[in-house]
Amino acid sequence: MSAHRRAGLEKERPLSYDELPEPEPKPEDEKLAIQLRHLADNAVLKARPQGDERCDNCRYYLEPSREISYCWHPKLRILVGDQWWCQWWEANPE
Ligand code: SF4
Repeated sequence: MSAHRRAGLEKERPLSYDELPEPEPKPEDEKLAIQLRHLADNAVLKARPQGDERCDNCRYYLEPSREISYCWHPKLRILVGDQWWCQWWEANPE
């Protein structure tokens, strides 16, 4: 068997932890970060309540018993925290 064929049959050695490249954001991550920043700015989204108004007592917060949940407001549709707030806060209908 030629050296060339033997080389093709050799298994590649797995990279050790030290040889792995440092993780870094990809272009799609940077694009998504900009989109989400615009979305948060448009909503005036804050990571703290506004008086008694907060996500976990807003009609758009899907699972009020959870600390993080999906906001189904059509202009957001993202995960938010229970103590967050945005300008589209609405009380739950009675
Ligand atoms: S609409 Fe605003 S206040 Fe209501 S759950 Fe979504 S982010 Fe929170």
